Amino acid sequence: MPVRARARRGASIAAVAVAICLTAGTKAGPAPDARSLPPASTPTSSATSSATSSDTSSATSSTTSSTTSSTTSSATTTPAPPPRAEGFDVATVQDGIRTLAAMGPRDAASPASDRAASFVAARLRTAGYRVTLVPLGVPAGVSWGVRVPAGTTVDVVADPPGFDPTRPHVVVGAHLDTVPQSPGAEDNASGLMVMAEVARMTRRQPGALPVRFVAFGAEEARGGNGTLYAFGSRHFVASLTGAERSAIRGMVALDRVGVRAAPVPVCHVAGADPSLADAIRAAASPAATRACTNKASDHVSFQKVGIPAARLGSVPYPAYHSARDVPSVVDPAQLSRSGAVLWAWIRSLR
Ligand SMILES: [Zn+2]
Repeated sequence: MPVRARARRGASIAAVAVAICLTAGTKAGPAPDARSLPPASTPTSSATSSATSSDTSSATSSTTSSTTSSTTSSATTTPAPPPRAEGFDVATVQDGIRTLAAMGPRDAASPASDRAASFVAARLRTAGYRVTLVPLGVPAGVSWGVRVPAGTTVDVVADPPGFDPTRPHVVVGAHLDTVPQSPGAEDNASGLMVMAEVARMTRRQPGALPVRFVAFGAEEARGGNGTLYAFGSRHFVASLTGAERSAIRGMVALDRVGVRAAPVPVCHVAGADPSLADAIRAAASPAATRACTNKASDHVSFQKVGIPAARLGSVPYPAYHSARDVPSVVDPAQLSRSGAVLWAWIRSLR
């Protein structure tokens, strides 16, 4: 399909871009960023399992990835302490947000949404994931007051090498689409690019549980007074077997994670069990986050079938769902904070 073809062509370009960006400095914000966090929350007790999983990953990546020489050479240095994760590279995140916003509005049924999917897929592929584009249909409707056509979008599913969806794992997601009048720098290029950056870090330093990263198509509502939404994540959940569904320990949606507000919102669905959101906050330090409830993103699709789910982000901002949602509304320190919260949770998983 066209999206796949574009993704393949884009991959080599993105590989060069990421290789360049990896050498760029990380801007440290006033609040804790990912680099300031410890590589694992319990170094002594986790040393064995971390070393084991990083050994496996190094061996695998040496056969599947040739993007960096350091990845390949790390396979020859075992046994050794688990490598520190590279810092969260906010310059790479900002660069990706600018690229996505420059594509213009990305309604789920638009060619621009396909271009965004290809871009995100290339970034995840370059990070070392096996990426699958899963097509799904979306209905015609009204999105934020504008008529939108029926069409096809995709879920971009990125699995680490050797991933078995029937074994315990977690899912991290961010939506690909925008409303028709917005270039969507904050909503939701911010979530996509923070996800891609943490995916890169996770691939370099896998934790105790595998992470499946998914860019979901068609999150924005297409009618029903805002109730017809999250098509991609609902399709993803509906496609899971019972064994796959019960293997998901938790799901986190990144949706609008770059508008400045010192504590990162960590929301659970009102009335649902908040234990996942509580665990994220505990892993990241409660002071860096604030508790909230939210039922307006892809995490709801998971919570509805009993999978613990939470959303990072949702700070209100004047440019919301407008043509003014451009890269300047996104704050690098906030992007780093959101990335740090997600990273701390992934590192805390056992
Ligand atoms: Zn959104």
